Amino acid sequence: MRAAYPLIEDIEARLRPLEVALAEAWWETSTRVSEEAKERRERIELERRALLADADAFAAIRDARTGSVADPLLRRQLDVLHDAFAPHQVPEDLRRRLVELEVDVEATFNSHRGEIDGERVDDNHILEILRTSEDAGERRAAWQASKQVGARVAEQVRELAGLRNEAARSLGYRDHFELALATGELDEGRLFATLDEVDRATAGPFREWKARLDESLAARFDCEAAALRPWHYDDPFFQDPPVAGALDLDPLFEDADIEGLTLSTYDGLGLDLRPVLERSDLFAREGKSQHAFCIDIDREGDVRVLCNVEPNERWMDTMLHEFGHATYDREVDRTLPWLLRAATHALTTEGVAMLFGRLPRDPDWLRTIAGVAEARIDELAPRLAGSRRANLLVFARWVLVMTNFERGLYADPAGDHETRWWELVERLQLVHRPEPEAAEAAWASKIHLTVAPVYYQNYLYGELVASQLGDAVAARAGGLGERAEAGRLLVDEFFAPGASLRWDQLVERATGAPLGARAFARQLAA
Ligand SMILES: [Zn+2]
Repeated sequence: MRAAYPLIEDIEARLRPLEVALAEAWWETSTRVSEEAKERRERIELERRALLADADAFAAIRDARTGSVADPLLRRQLDVLHDAFAPHQVPEDLRRRLVELEVDVEATFNSHRGEIDGERVDDNHILEILRTSEDAGERRAAWQASKQVGARVAEQVRELAGLRNEAARSLGYRDHFELALATGELDEGRLFATLDEVDRATAGPFREWKARLDESLAARFDCEAAALRPWHYDDPFFQDPPVAGALDLDPLFEDADIEGLTLSTYDGLGLDLRPVLERSDLFAREGKSQHAFCIDIDREGDVRVLCNVEPNERWMDTMLHEFGHATYDREVDRTLPWLLRAATHALTTEGVAMLFGRLPRDPDWLRTIAGVAEARIDELAPRLAGSRRANLLVFARWVLVMTNFERGLYADPAGDHETRWWELVERLQLVHRPEPEAAEAAWASKIHLTVAPVYYQNYLYGELVASQLGDAVAARAGGLGERAEAGRLLVDEFFAPGASLRWDQLVERATGAPLGARAFARQLAA
């Protein structure tokens, strides 16, 4: 057996330059169109995958973990390496078939356009109809157009689930669902206990809120509430509340300095993000990515944000969200070993980002940072609370559908997913299924099943972290508004430990309780 330390040192020496080069290439391809950078990114990505598939290295990692490694940081690095290598330990031909099928389905999603009356339409067009049309027939056609891709890819998604299971079984797991959770530091029993807790906390308030919504939709579309179908709810999956009648905060931000407000939010906590701002790329330009993200290039302080800022609420929320990721990355203790010098889990960094992204709907923030007049805030306050609550309720019910559905998909890829899907939607989202001929394989039109399998639970966990961490900061430092002690608390208790602690230990240490739905439920009741 090799000693743990030289093994880790050896793997770090091979992995670290690849990760840094990949981050740089990723940034380059996102900020300007360049064939050269694109090729470089693909080449490094392949090299990285080849390293993670190294069977000898994996055997040595497994071996080292069975021995007694007293140093907790060494142990933890072995755990991190194990979870990074494990999913790649798949026979060569199976790995190739998986990649080919994934690329194939993704290409179908990218090139597919739904059709309304024989005319090809893009997603923005469909969403625009669902947001604005008063004509139920037109809405139905738009919703159907959004589902057509499902029928095209359904067979391939089943096949993909089967291949992923084959790979998981070759590694000793029941199916891909179990493998993905286990190598993502999530315990299946605990996940479903948390989902049950969320179900219980949201079922009553959601039912009440939904009844009021249905009443107003029935009036709007001049029908019985029982006649409402999925196309009456704006979002094709009902993952956000309908926008009609929702609270529009854009007027508050139309003349705002979004960059300046972002800096002053973090300045108030004693967190200086000017070094990030200087390296960031924040405004729309030809040839750059239309999305938003934060990237830690080298785990040495070079952290950058990409946005396409416009003066409205969405971008205010997005900037605070991305700079939340950035401040976390910047404040991880830089004396930690490189492998542990990062956020410990997707759900902890999403939780922090979501906590800051909620601020534009927080009266305290609107007053102190955005400088909104007191009278205007008093007028908005009840509706701010209502809209925060509606967002959390609708999103939570939707994640329950997705996670339960995905577990069943991998349990039996050949199963009757059509029936299971609509049963979950009816039971959890209280949306009536349409007649069968309205849409075939609507379930398969959700792209996450293909490109981000078994990931959805992280979004819900992120919301739970945001609520629980927000409560802890409020109780111990009075909240996030202009309080340096709140910033210190976040840095010391949550950011600095990086991945030296598992996410569940970190959350418990920082908030005084294991991650659960209590704080989240309290916010729903408020
Ligand atoms: Zn994020």
